[in-house]
Amino acid sequence: MASSPEVAATNARRVTIAVRPGVTIPDWSVVTSETVREALGAIFETCDWEARWAGLDDAEDRTQRAILEAYPRIGHAPSINELALTTGFASDRVRDLIAMLKARDMVVLDQDGKTLIGAYPFIDRNTEHRMRLGNTILNAMCAIDALGTGAMLGTDVVIESTCRSCSAPIRVETRDKGAALADHSPMGAVVWTGIQYANRCAADSLCTVMAFFCSDEHLDSWRDGQTPRANGFRLSMDEGLQMGKALFTPRLASSSENAQGGTDTS
Ligand SMILES: [Zn+2]
Repeated sequence: MASSPEVAATNARRVTIAVRPGVTIPDWSVVTSETVREALGAIFETCDWEARWAGLDDAEDRTQRAILEAYPRIGHAPSINELALTTGFASDRVRDLIAMLKARDMVVLDQDGKTLIGAYPFIDRNTEHRMRLGNTILNAMCAIDALGTGAMLGTDVVIESTCRSCSAPIRVETRDKGAALADHSPMGAVVWTGIQYANRCAADSLCTVMAFFCSDEHLDSWRDGQTPRANGFRLSMDEGLQMGKALFTPRLASSSENAQGGTDTS
């Protein structure tokens, strides 16, 4: 009912991609909202996620994880040398792996085509979505990325963003290690998930249409001002969190051998 009838993805297949043993993306187990199901279906189709994740091998997976784990630790993208140390791969191999991840649109490179400046959800660039993790400030590529970061890292996050329409501050705080919402203001703030993908780079397409709005009124007026009228899904803050968790928790989740039932002994 709250979803956008003009998006013809209602009957989209429920795509599930195996990331590592026992871990799939999206993580449908955290999704209870029908609107989020539809939005995920539409994004997976538009952005061809199955092709992008197909055959991701262990070395690519390990490199992506090392990049994501470096962000909260050092506050920006790791260098080739740092990645060589954390992955155990030689520097040349790390460069190749980054190029492979770029081809999958899992990382963002600077204009030189070599320097790593981002890996979803993080980017080394001032965006409208700042995240505070303890003493570290990181920028998220979009609203959904910001909402998924805490659960992915198993830590609480304070998101400071702005209304895409009026630039009013929007603040979101998580609890339960990023798994739930603690608070958000203004109370009527919502999340917009547009559907757009171009040039095999979500950072420059999809992410630009995933934003917070201070109210439904401002979301509606912004959509009315777009030509053609913006297409996508209106999510409550909690639905936005579900979507972020479904997309980002799998990226760092342990494989089933040691992640079942909270019996991890690490
Ligand atoms: Zn506003």
